[in-house]
Amino acid sequence: MIYLDNSATTPLAPEVARRMNRWRDEASMGAGFANASSAHRGGQRARVEVEESRERIAMLLGAEPKEIIFTSGGTEADNYALKGYALKEYSERGIWPVLLTTRAEHHAVLHPAEFLARLGVQVVYLDVDADGRLHPDLLRAALGRLGSMPHPIVSVMHANNETGTINPIAQLAQTAHEFGAVFHTDAVQTFGKTNVRHDALGADMITISAHKIHGPKGIGALYVNKEIELEALLHGGAQERNRRGGTEPVELIAGFDEAAALAASTQAETTERVRSLVALLRTLLAEIEGVRFVTPHEAALPHILNVTFNDAATLDGEALIVGMDLEGVAVSNGSACTSGSIQPSHVLSAMGLPPAQAKAAVRFSLSRYTTEQEIRNGAEALRRVVGRMRR
Ligand code: PLP
Repeated sequence: MIYLDNSATTPLAPEVARRMNRWRDEASMGAGFANASSAHRGGQRARVEVEESRERIAMLLGAEPKEIIFTSGGTEADNYALKGYALKEYSERGIWPVLLTTRAEHHAVLHPAEFLARLGVQVVYLDVDADGRLHPDLLRAALGRLGSMPHPIVSVMHANNETGTINPIAQLAQTAHEFGAVFHTDAVQTFGKTNVRHDALGADMITISAHKIHGPKGIGALYVNKEIELEALLHGGAQERNRRGGTEPVELIAGFDEAAALAASTQAETTERVRSLVALLRTLLAEIEGVRFVTPHEAALPHILNVTFNDAATLDGEALIVGMDLEGVAVSNGSACTSGSIQPSHVLSAMGLPPAQAKAAVRFSLSRYTTEQEIRNGAEALRRVVGRMRR
């Protein structure tokens, strides 16, 4: 199997697995499995592992450890940013803040936004351009139209998971701040791959997740600027400074830390490698008749290439992915969270692609383990699958 679906998830790095195993059972490391809230030696060791991991992850974001809240992943971190902020504002002022976001966000942002709208929050959906990018002028105009509405929240993803398109986050955050808005960015696809330091992005809240960078599934984090208070979504124990109750999953947190450190130390080399592999993939795919590149050439993540076809109306999007699978190549037709349903991708639709083309997209996403031979075989497989469908 050739795995070219790394934006959906990545295999665990062996170094990460080794570090996690140390915290799973008693035999491997004293009382390594202990509850980090327990007072005995085992608990204290677990506590040290959690807090040292937090410190290192915080450092990668240029943040203070107390500004990092561990969550069950990117989805929970996005939910917490949006709902936690809205609920806090409502409980303190008696009015909901306005939420501004884009039509190309991940469902982990769009669905909480829909939920908040049902509670009475005004949600403003901003258009993206043909590359899937939000222009700061659009945000400026939308914020201007709100007039004196206090403390809106803006949520715009750093890079899109389907296309790799990167948003001008620093400019967007600055624009938001000019209007007194709080700025959240979903950096699930960029953490470990580009600079996501909060001072470089200017973001007040940043979502990250471990399983996109060869870490374990079920762990992520939200960076929250220390000036911002959120309403907790999970009430229970006093973990995460009373912001998220629940026994800390020490092995997942340790695995997250290991994966983040590995991603940081290999980032420059990986970027160069995947950039040249994607350039090769572009060249090979361009030879397939009617191919249309969805991922822009400029300001896009180096490891994602999304393509569709000019004659998509006569091609079956689902059959493309199944055909690739039968060829032994794992790719995706957009967000993994929506595959299984045959809806055209909401991201590609927001970019203005016709429904058939938005349905027939194929996303290749690479990792630091991808080889040139896999790229050549993957491109050849797509040529065969499309060729068979056109016959
Ligand atoms: N946001 C983006 C941009 C993603 O790509 C994903 C992953 O599918 C998520 C959020 C959800 O993250 P998680 O799977 O860690 O809940």
